[in-house]
Amino acid sequence: MERAGGGCYPRYMASTSPVGQQTVRMSGGKPALALYLHIPFCSSKCGYCDFNSYEGLEHLVPEYTPALVHELELWAPAARTFGVDTVFFGGGTPSLTTLDDMSAIVAAVREQYDIAPDAEWTLEANPTELTREHLEGLRHLGINRLSMGVQSMRPDELELLERAHTPERVVQAVEDARAAGFDNLNLDLIFGLIGQRPEHWQETLERVLQFRPEHLSCYALTVEPGTALYYRVQKGQLPDPDPDIAAEEYEWTRERLARDGYQQYEISNWAKPGRACRHNLVYWRAEPYLGFGAGAHSFFAGQRFANVDAPNRYEEAVAATVEARATTGSAAMQQIAGGETPDHTTQMADAMILGLRLMEGVGLEEFTTRFGARVEDAFADALAKHTRLGLIEVADGRLRLTSRGLLLSNEVFVDLLPDPPEE
Ligand code: SF4
Repeated sequence: MERAGGGCYPRYMASTSPVGQQTVRMSGGKPALALYLHIPFCSSKCGYCDFNSYEGLEHLVPEYTPALVHELELWAPAARTFGVDTVFFGGGTPSLTTLDDMSAIVAAVREQYDIAPDAEWTLEANPTELTREHLEGLRHLGINRLSMGVQSMRPDELELLERAHTPERVVQAVEDARAAGFDNLNLDLIFGLIGQRPEHWQETLERVLQFRPEHLSCYALTVEPGTALYYRVQKGQLPDPDPDIAAEEYEWTRERLARDGYQQYEISNWAKPGRACRHNLVYWRAEPYLGFGAGAHSFFAGQRFANVDAPNRYEEAVAATVEARATTGSAAMQQIAGGETPDHTTQMADAMILGLRLMEGVGLEEFTTRFGARVEDAFADALAKHTRLGLIEVADGRLRLTSRGLLLSNEVFVDLLPDPPEE
């Protein structure tokens, strides 16, 4: 799945206030807002996946669309002063949703929110089940960007990842997507796979370049606790991924994609000019977004919060909120599992960590205007240490990761985190 760090939204969630002294991005004369809709169902669970996704819950699908539509209605009054310019269906496997259900959800989005005519509408798709007819239906509904989870073009690697598709299926799905009119296509790939040799990764990348995708997301494999892959590694059935191989592959990828005219705009994301993912940029620039569906995260009105993960509990909680509002006129959003209002220090750390993921980096003057503090003062120790190590640099008034820093970004980020509160 196309990850702004994991799933469809960052593992490290944005929390910086969108207002305050930040320059507010506008859409149709109003402050801009992004919408994320989570579809948590998958036909099978991939071995490396730690996203909020489930196999075998087909019985919950019929009630899920009405719950999403109700949640869209519940939030609409609060979003009335915003213009929406990106809508992202992530998962899970949104392409499993029937066209009738997609039609109902898209209609609710259009009816309840002020959507820009040129809005980016992305849908994540799994090549396994994609058909030409379904793709044409999606395009007809206004979905104008498709993000396909390819991961590898080698059968042995797809098997390792427990993906259900084959390279041939990918070729067909891309062909069908182009024929259906998708001219903005992202392909997700994973490198640094266990046992992978650099030439294997090169083979995958060369094959997908033949599709001429407008956008590529290339992530190093991480073995996440709780996944099937993690237990296989823990039991000694598989070795750990080799970070040196992953680093070599990453550097080769940067050079290879530059040669084909792709611009790297984030640690793991490349696009043809003008084709960067507008939705994911919202996360990295710490701008506001509302998330709908099981486990969806939001950053809205200076607060960050997340819905309950389990689809059955989500459906029940939305129904309970709707019922309570019908009786009392107002009631808390019972689908929200928890949230927080980040303090000033956390906001500054968020802006740094998210901003440094982007090649544009963090503007020093913008930071001071927004937070009333200089980066050089607020992060003096981390700056000195990582400048000395050659992981960050300042050029043209912006702080950025160096080429070496892109490989070791987590070492920088960990030093930017606020100190934990004292016991
Ligand atoms: S299709 Fe995507 S979301 Fe579903 S299990 Fe596989 S990686 Fe996870």
